Amino acid sequence: MGLDIAKIREQFPVLNQEVHGKPLVYFDNAATTQKPRSVLDALTNYYSKDNSNIHRGAHALADRATRYYEETREAIMHFINARESAEIIFTKGTTEGINLVASTFGRKFIGKGDEIIISALEHHSNIVPWHMLCEEKGAVLKVIPINEAGELIYEEFEKLLTPNTKLVSIVHASNALGSINPVKKIIDSAHAVGAKVLLDGAQSSSHLHIDVQDLDCDFFAFSAHKLYGPTGLGCLYGKREVFESMPPYQGGGEMIKEVTYEKTTYNEIPFKFEAGTPNIADVIAFKSALEFINELGKDAIKAHEDELLAYANELLLPIKGFVPIGTAKEKVSVISFNINAMHPYDVGMMLDANGFAVRTGHHCTQPLMKRLGIEGTVRASFSVYNSKSEIEKLAESVTRIARIKNK
Ligand code: PMP
Repeated sequence: MGLDIAKIREQFPVLNQEVHGKPLVYFDNAATTQKPRSVLDALTNYYSKDNSNIHRGAHALADRATRYYEETREAIMHFINARESAEIIFTKGTTEGINLVASTFGRKFIGKGDEIIISALEHHSNIVPWHMLCEEKGAVLKVIPINEAGELIYEEFEKLLTPNTKLVSIVHASNALGSINPVKKIIDSAHAVGAKVLLDGAQSSSHLHIDVQDLDCDFFAFSAHKLYGPTGLGCLYGKREVFESMPPYQGGGEMIKEVTYEKTTYNEIPFKFEAGTPNIADVIAFKSALEFINELGKDAIKAHEDELLAYANELLLPIKGFVPIGTAKEKVSVISFNINAMHPYDVGMMLDANGFAVRTGHHCTQPLMKRLGIEGTVRASFSVYNSKSEIEKLAESVTRIARIKNK
Protein backbone atom coordinates (compact mmCIF):
# COMPACT_ATOMS: atom_id res chain seq x y z
CA MET A 1 0.00 0.00 0.00
CA GLY A 2 1.30 3.41 -0.98
CA LEU A 3 1.29 6.42 1.29
CA ASP A 4 -1.77 8.66 1.60
CA ILE A 5 -0.14 11.85 0.37
CA ALA A 6 -3.22 14.05 0.85
CA LYS A 7 -3.36 12.99 4.49
CA ILE A 8 0.37 13.56 4.95
CA ARG A 9 0.04 17.05 3.45
CA GLU A 10 -2.58 17.96 6.04
CA GLN A 11 0.14 17.67 8.66
CA PHE A 12 2.18 20.43 6.98
CA PRO A 13 0.38 23.77 7.37
CA VAL A 14 2.99 25.68 5.36
CA LEU A 15 2.14 23.74 2.19
CA ASN A 16 -1.37 25.12 2.17
CA GLN A 17 -0.70 28.55 0.65
CA GLU A 18 -0.44 30.41 -2.61
CA VAL A 19 2.61 32.26 -3.90
CA HIS A 20 2.20 34.83 -6.67
CA GLY A 21 -1.43 33.71 -6.87
CA LYS A 22 -0.53 30.07 -7.58
CA PRO A 23 -0.65 27.09 -5.23
CA LEU A 24 2.76 26.55 -3.66
CA VAL A 25 4.70 23.58 -5.02
CA TYR A 26 7.56 23.06 -2.62
CA PHE A 27 10.43 21.36 -4.46
CA ASP A 28 13.32 22.73 -2.39
CA ASN A 29 13.51 19.84 0.05
CA ALA A 30 17.23 19.23 -0.39
CA ALA A 31 17.76 22.72 1.04
CA THR A 32 15.35 22.17 3.93
CA THR A 33 12.19 20.16 4.46
CA GLN A 34 8.95 21.53 5.85
CA LYS A 35 7.91 20.66 9.42
CA PRO A 36 4.87 18.61 10.40
CA ARG A 37 2.38 19.94 12.95
CA SER A 38 3.75 17.56 15.62
CA VAL A 39 7.16 19.28 15.46
CA LEU A 40 5.55 22.74 15.71
CA ASP A 41 3.45 21.55 18.66
CA ALA A 42 6.46 20.05 20.40
CA LEU A 43 8.22 23.43 20.25
CA THR A 44 5.22 25.27 21.68
CA ASN A 45 4.65 22.61 24.33
CA TYR A 46 8.21 22.77 25.49
CA TYR A 47 8.20 26.53 25.92
CA SER A 48 4.70 26.54 27.44
CA LYS A 49 5.23 23.71 29.93
CA ASP A 50 8.78 22.47 30.36
CA ASN A 51 11.23 25.29 29.63
CA SER A 52 14.25 24.80 31.85
CA ASN A 53 17.98 24.33 31.59
CA ILE A 54 19.02 20.70 31.39
CA HIS A 55 21.43 18.44 33.29
CA ARG A 56 21.68 21.03 36.08
CA GLY A 57 18.68 21.96 38.19
CA ALA A 58 17.27 19.52 40.72
CA HIS A 59 13.67 20.54 40.09
CA ALA A 60 10.74 19.04 38.24
CA LEU A 61 10.97 21.16 35.08
CA ALA A 62 14.70 20.61 34.73
CA ASP A 63 14.19 16.86 35.21
CA ARG A 64 11.51 16.77 32.53
CA ALA A 65 13.48 18.87 30.04
CA THR A 66 16.57 16.71 30.61
CA ARG A 67 14.58 13.51 30.14
CA TYR A 68 12.99 14.71 26.88
CA TYR A 69 16.34 15.98 25.60
CA GLU A 70 18.02 12.64 26.28
CA GLU A 71 15.07 10.77 24.78
CA THR A 72 15.84 12.43 21.46
CA ARG A 73 19.42 11.19 21.71
CA GLU A 74 18.05 7.67 22.21
CA ALA A 75 15.69 8.10 19.26
CA ILE A 76 18.60 9.14 17.04
CA MET A 77 20.61 6.15 18.25
CA HIS A 78 17.80 3.88 16.98
CA PHE A 79 17.34 5.94 13.81
CA ILE A 80 20.93 5.36 12.66
CA ASN A 81 21.49 2.14 14.64
CA ALA A 82 24.37 3.42 16.77
CA ARG A 83 25.57 1.07 19.52
CA GLU A 84 24.82 3.53 22.31
CA SER A 85 23.41 7.02 22.74
CA ALA A 86 26.79 8.33 23.99
CA GLU A 87 27.94 8.06 20.37
CA ILE A 88 25.51 10.85 19.39
CA ILE A 89 26.62 14.47 19.79
CA PHE A 90 24.24 17.35 19.19
CA THR A 91 25.61 20.04 16.89
CA LYS A 92 24.27 23.02 14.92
CA GLY A 93 24.15 20.87 11.80
CA THR A 94 26.22 18.90 9.32
CA THR A 95 28.56 21.86 8.92
CA GLU A 96 29.39 21.98 12.61
CA GLY A 97 29.77 18.20 12.78
CA ILE A 98 32.42 18.25 10.05
CA ASN A 99 34.16 21.26 11.60
CA LEU A 100 34.17 19.49 14.96
CA VAL A 101 35.98 16.51 13.43
CA ALA A 102 38.45 18.78 11.61
CA SER A 103 39.17 20.80 14.77
CA THR A 104 39.59 17.87 17.15
CA PHE A 105 40.39 14.62 15.33
CA GLY A 106 42.09 16.57 12.54
CA ARG A 107 44.25 18.75 14.80
CA LYS A 108 45.35 15.76 16.86
CA PHE A 109 45.83 13.04 14.27
CA ILE A 110 46.57 14.78 10.95
CA GLY A 111 50.01 16.29 10.46
CA LYS A 112 52.49 17.42 7.81
CA GLY A 113 52.36 15.26 4.69
CA ASP A 114 49.31 13.32 5.84
CA GLU A 115 46.48 12.97 3.36
CA ILE A 116 42.75 13.62 3.44
CA ILE A 117 40.56 12.34 0.62
CA ILE A 118 37.27 13.92 -0.43
CA SER A 119 35.30 13.58 -3.68
CA ALA A 120 34.47 15.94 -6.55
CA LEU A 121 30.84 15.92 -5.35
CA GLU A 122 31.37 17.66 -2.01
CA HIS A 123 29.37 20.50 -0.50
CA HIS A 124 31.58 23.42 0.60
CA SER A 125 31.10 22.32 4.20
CA ASN A 126 33.08 19.16 3.40
CA ILE A 127 35.83 21.05 1.56
CA VAL A 128 36.56 24.26 3.44
CA PRO A 129 37.23 22.74 6.91
CA TRP A 130 39.84 20.48 5.26
CA HIS A 131 41.44 23.42 3.43
CA MET A 132 41.70 25.19 6.78
CA LEU A 133 43.25 22.12 8.42
CA CYS A 134 45.65 21.45 5.54
CA GLU A 135 46.82 25.06 5.63
CA GLU A 136 47.46 24.85 9.35
CA LYS A 137 49.11 21.43 9.34
CA GLY A 138 50.74 21.08 5.93
CA ALA A 139 48.51 18.12 5.11
CA VAL A 140 47.42 17.28 1.56
CA LEU A 141 43.84 17.24 0.21
CA LYS A 142 43.12 14.75 -2.59
CA VAL A 143 39.93 14.60 -4.65
CA ILE A 144 38.26 11.49 -6.13
CA PRO A 145 37.19 12.37 -9.69
CA ILE A 146 33.73 11.77 -11.14
CA ASN A 147 32.51 10.62 -14.56
CA GLU A 148 30.17 12.54 -16.88
CA ALA A 149 27.10 11.09 -15.17
CA GLY A 150 28.22 12.57 -11.84
CA GLU A 151 29.31 9.26 -10.35
CA LEU A 152 32.42 8.93 -8.26
CA ILE A 153 35.05 6.76 -10.00
CA TYR A 154 35.78 4.09 -7.41
CA GLU A 155 38.93 2.75 -9.16
CA GLU A 156 40.45 6.24 -8.98
CA PHE A 157 39.71 6.34 -5.26
CA GLU A 158 41.71 3.15 -4.73
CA LYS A 159 44.66 4.75 -6.51
CA LEU A 160 44.54 7.77 -4.18
CA LEU A 161 44.74 5.67 -1.00
CA THR A 162 48.21 5.47 0.58
CA PRO A 163 49.58 4.63 4.03
CA ASN A 164 49.54 8.43 4.62
CA THR A 165 45.76 8.64 4.19
CA LYS A 166 44.41 9.57 7.62
CA LEU A 167 40.85 10.49 6.75
CA VAL A 168 38.37 9.93 3.94
CA SER A 169 35.50 12.41 4.17
CA ILE A 170 32.79 11.75 1.63
CA VAL A 171 29.27 12.88 0.89
CA HIS A 172 26.87 9.92 1.10
CA ALA A 173 24.41 11.45 -1.39
CA SER A 174 25.14 14.59 -3.40
CA ASN A 175 22.92 17.61 -2.75
CA ALA A 176 23.62 19.08 -6.19
CA LEU A 177 23.09 15.99 -8.38
CA GLY A 178 21.55 13.37 -6.10
CA SER A 179 24.26 10.75 -6.84
CA ILE A 180 24.58 8.12 -4.11
CA ASN A 181 28.19 7.16 -3.45
CA PRO A 182 29.32 3.54 -2.93
CA VAL A 183 30.23 4.34 0.67
CA LYS A 184 30.43 0.80 2.01
CA LYS A 185 33.19 -0.14 -0.43
CA ILE A 186 34.93 3.17 0.26
CA ILE A 187 34.83 2.60 4.02
CA ASP A 188 36.24 -0.93 3.74
CA SER A 189 39.12 0.19 1.50
CA ALA A 190 39.89 3.23 3.67
CA HIS A 191 40.00 1.07 6.80
CA ALA A 192 42.38 -1.32 5.05
CA VAL A 193 45.03 1.47 4.99
CA GLY A 194 44.19 2.56 8.54
CA ALA A 195 42.23 5.70 7.60
CA LYS A 196 39.09 6.84 9.38
CA VAL A 197 35.95 7.68 7.39
CA LEU A 198 33.49 10.53 7.84
CA LEU A 199 30.21 10.44 5.92
CA ASP A 200 28.37 13.66 5.17
CA GLY A 201 24.82 12.38 5.64
CA ALA A 202 23.03 15.70 5.14
CA GLN A 203 21.13 14.35 2.13
CA SER A 204 21.25 10.59 2.63
CA SER A 205 19.73 10.66 6.13
CA SER A 206 16.35 11.77 4.81
CA HIS A 207 16.14 9.33 1.89
CA LEU A 208 18.13 6.20 2.75
CA HIS A 209 18.03 3.71 5.57
CA ILE A 210 21.08 4.51 7.72
CA ASP A 211 22.83 1.83 9.75
CA VAL A 212 26.14 3.15 11.04
CA GLN A 213 27.17 -0.23 12.43
CA ASP A 214 26.62 -1.96 9.12
CA LEU A 215 28.35 0.87 7.23
CA ASP A 216 31.15 0.80 9.82
CA CYS A 217 31.84 4.53 9.27
CA ASP A 218 33.79 6.30 12.02
CA PHE A 219 31.73 9.51 11.81
CA PHE A 220 28.33 10.34 10.34
CA ALA A 221 27.17 13.98 10.27
CA PHE A 222 23.64 15.13 9.46
CA SER A 223 21.16 17.99 9.95
CA ALA A 224 17.74 17.87 11.61
CA HIS A 225 16.21 20.44 9.26
CA LYS A 226 16.49 18.14 6.24
CA LEU A 227 14.60 15.49 8.21
CA TYR A 228 11.41 17.47 8.98
CA GLY A 229 13.06 18.84 12.14
CA PRO A 230 14.13 22.32 13.24
CA THR A 231 16.93 24.38 11.67
CA GLY A 232 20.24 24.98 13.40
CA LEU A 233 20.39 21.49 14.85
CA GLY A 234 22.32 18.43 13.78
CA CYS A 235 24.03 15.31 15.00
CA LEU A 236 27.48 13.91 14.78
CA TYR A 237 27.75 10.18 15.28
CA GLY A 238 31.18 8.83 16.17
CA LYS A 239 32.43 5.46 17.34
CA ARG A 240 33.03 5.54 21.11
CA GLU A 241 36.74 4.71 20.87
CA VAL A 242 37.28 7.39 18.22
CA PHE A 243 35.39 10.07 20.19
CA GLU A 244 37.28 9.11 23.33
CA SER A 245 40.61 9.50 21.54
CA MET A 246 39.73 13.07 20.49
CA PRO A 247 40.31 16.29 22.46
CA PRO A 248 37.25 18.43 23.25
CA TYR A 249 35.87 20.93 20.72
CA GLN A 250 34.77 23.97 22.71
CA GLY A 251 35.44 24.66 26.39
CA GLY A 252 32.75 25.74 28.84
CA GLY A 253 29.98 24.49 31.07
CA GLU A 254 28.75 20.88 30.91
CA MET A 255 31.82 19.49 29.13
CA ILE A 256 33.91 19.34 32.31
CA LYS A 257 34.40 16.88 35.13
CA GLU A 258 36.35 19.28 37.33
CA VAL A 259 37.79 22.76 36.94
CA THR A 260 40.44 24.40 39.11
CA TYR A 261 42.40 27.53 38.22
CA GLU A 262 45.27 25.28 37.24
CA LYS A 263 43.53 22.62 35.21
CA THR A 264 40.35 21.18 33.68
CA THR A 265 39.41 17.53 33.46
CA TYR A 266 36.79 16.63 30.87
CA ASN A 267 33.40 14.99 31.07
CA GLU A 268 32.54 11.64 29.45
CA ILE A 269 31.21 11.48 25.89
CA PRO A 270 28.86 12.79 24.62
CA PHE A 271 28.96 15.70 27.11
CA LYS A 272 32.67 16.32 26.48
CA PHE A 273 31.64 17.71 23.08
CA GLU A 274 28.56 19.69 24.17
CA ALA A 275 29.80 22.86 25.88
CA GLY A 276 27.24 25.40 27.05
CA THR A 277 23.44 25.43 27.09
CA PRO A 278 22.36 23.50 24.01
CA ASN A 279 19.45 23.99 21.63
CA ILE A 280 17.07 22.27 24.04
CA ALA A 281 13.70 23.05 22.45
CA ASP A 282 14.78 22.06 18.97
CA VAL A 283 16.39 18.84 20.18
CA ILE A 284 13.17 17.89 21.95
CA ALA A 285 11.05 18.76 18.90
CA PHE A 286 13.34 16.73 16.65
CA LYS A 287 12.08 13.57 18.34
CA SER A 288 8.63 14.30 16.88
CA ALA A 289 10.19 14.59 13.42
CA LEU A 290 11.82 11.18 13.83
CA GLU A 291 8.49 9.74 15.01
CA PHE A 292 6.84 11.19 11.91
CA ILE A 293 9.38 9.36 9.73
CA ASN A 294 9.19 6.11 11.72
CA GLU A 295 5.41 6.06 11.58
CA LEU A 296 5.40 6.32 7.80
CA GLY A 297 8.41 4.01 7.50
CA LYS A 298 11.68 4.87 5.79
CA ASP A 299 11.08 2.21 3.11
CA ALA A 300 7.65 3.61 2.22
CA ILE A 301 9.06 7.15 2.10
CA LYS A 302 11.91 6.03 -0.15
CA ALA A 303 9.55 4.09 -2.44
CA HIS A 304 7.36 7.19 -2.84
CA GLU A 305 10.34 9.48 -3.50
CA ASP A 306 11.83 7.00 -6.00
CA GLU A 307 8.49 6.91 -7.81
CA LEU A 308 8.43 10.73 -7.97
CA LEU A 309 11.98 10.79 -9.34
CA ALA A 310 11.17 8.19 -12.00
CA TYR A 311 8.02 10.11 -12.97
CA ALA A 312 9.95 13.39 -13.18
CA ASN A 313 12.51 11.75 -15.45
CA GLU A 314 9.75 10.29 -17.62
CA LEU A 315 8.05 13.67 -18.08
CA LEU A 316 11.03 16.01 -18.17
CA LEU A 317 13.66 14.16 -20.19
CA PRO A 318 11.73 14.24 -23.51
CA ILE A 319 11.20 18.03 -23.31
CA LYS A 320 13.18 19.75 -26.06
CA GLY A 321 15.77 22.01 -24.44
CA PHE A 322 15.71 20.19 -21.08
CA VAL A 323 19.29 19.35 -20.08
CA PRO A 324 19.62 16.98 -17.10
CA ILE A 325 22.71 17.52 -14.97
CA GLY A 326 23.80 14.39 -13.13
CA THR A 327 22.46 11.10 -14.41
CA ALA A 328 23.96 8.65 -11.90
CA LYS A 329 22.36 5.20 -11.78
CA GLU A 330 21.93 5.43 -8.01
CA LYS A 331 20.24 8.66 -7.01
CA VAL A 332 18.17 10.19 -4.24
CA SER A 333 15.11 12.17 -5.30
CA VAL A 334 16.92 15.21 -6.68
CA ILE A 335 16.75 16.35 -10.29
CA SER A 336 19.17 19.03 -11.42
CA PHE A 337 18.80 20.58 -14.84
CA ASN A 338 19.20 23.52 -17.14
CA ILE A 339 16.93 24.68 -19.95
CA ASN A 340 18.70 25.39 -23.22
CA ALA A 341 21.43 27.95 -22.51
CA MET A 342 19.25 29.94 -20.11
CA HIS A 343 20.75 31.11 -16.85
CA PRO A 344 19.47 28.89 -13.99
CA TYR A 345 18.51 31.99 -12.03
CA ASP A 346 16.19 33.16 -14.83
CA VAL A 347 14.56 29.72 -14.98
CA GLY A 348 14.16 29.78 -11.21
CA MET A 349 12.46 33.20 -11.37
CA MET A 350 10.00 31.97 -13.98
CA LEU A 351 9.25 28.85 -11.97
CA ASP A 352 8.79 30.95 -8.83
CA ALA A 353 6.26 33.08 -10.68
CA ASN A 354 4.34 29.84 -11.29
CA GLY A 355 4.39 28.87 -7.61
CA PHE A 356 7.38 26.52 -7.62
CA ALA A 357 10.01 26.68 -4.91
CA VAL A 358 13.17 25.29 -6.51
CA ARG A 359 16.84 25.99 -5.88
CA THR A 360 19.05 27.66 -8.46
CA GLY A 361 22.79 28.27 -8.54
CA HIS A 362 25.87 26.33 -7.52
CA HIS A 363 24.28 24.63 -4.49
CA CYS A 364 27.42 25.27 -2.38
CA THR A 365 29.34 23.00 -4.77
CA GLN A 366 31.38 25.47 -6.82
CA PRO A 367 34.21 23.02 -7.65
CA LEU A 368 31.63 20.48 -8.88
CA MET A 369 29.97 23.07 -11.13
CA LYS A 370 33.41 24.00 -12.50
CA ARG A 371 34.16 20.31 -13.16
CA LEU A 372 30.87 20.03 -15.07
CA GLY A 373 31.63 23.23 -17.00
CA ILE A 374 28.48 25.02 -15.91
CA GLU A 375 27.66 28.01 -13.76
CA GLY A 376 24.88 26.30 -11.91
CA THR A 377 21.66 24.32 -12.21
CA VAL A 378 18.00 24.45 -11.34
CA ARG A 379 17.33 21.80 -8.72
CA ALA A 380 13.96 20.24 -7.92
CA SER A 381 14.14 17.93 -4.90
CA PHE A 382 11.22 15.80 -3.79
CA SER A 383 9.97 14.81 -0.38
CA VAL A 384 7.30 12.60 1.11
CA TYR A 385 4.54 15.23 0.80
CA ASN A 386 5.09 15.85 -2.92
CA SER A 387 2.71 14.38 -5.45
CA LYS A 388 2.75 13.20 -9.03
CA SER A 389 0.36 15.98 -10.00
CA GLU A 390 2.92 18.54 -8.79
CA ILE A 391 5.47 16.92 -11.10
CA GLU A 392 3.03 17.13 -14.00
CA LYS A 393 2.68 20.86 -13.28
CA LEU A 394 6.47 21.22 -13.26
CA ALA A 395 6.71 19.47 -16.62
CA GLU A 396 4.08 21.83 -18.06
CA SER A 397 5.95 24.90 -16.81
CA VAL A 398 9.32 23.61 -18.01
CA THR A 399 7.80 22.93 -21.45
CA ARG A 400 6.48 26.51 -21.60
CA ILE A 401 9.81 28.00 -20.49
CA ALA A 402 11.77 25.86 -22.96
CA ARG A 403 9.44 26.98 -25.76
CA ILE A 404 10.26 30.67 -25.17
CA LYS A 405 13.86 29.92 -25.99
CA ASN A 406 13.18 27.34 -28.66
CA LYS A 407 11.23 29.85 -30.74
N1 PMP B 1 26.40 18.66 3.11
C1 PMP B 1 25.42 18.53 2.22
C2 PMP B 1 25.50 17.44 1.20
C3 PMP B 1 24.32 19.40 2.26
O1 PMP B 1 23.34 19.26 1.37
C4 PMP B 1 24.27 20.41 3.25
C5 PMP B 1 23.12 21.39 3.31
N2 PMP B 1 22.82 21.97 2.08
C6 PMP B 1 25.32 20.50 4.16
C7 PMP B 1 26.36 19.60 4.06
C8 PMP B 1 25.33 21.52 5.24
O2 PMP B 1 24.27 21.34 6.12
P1 PMP B 1 23.92 22.45 7.20
O3 PMP B 1 23.82 23.74 6.44
O4 PMP B 1 22.61 22.01 7.77
O5 PMP B 1 25.02 22.47 8.19
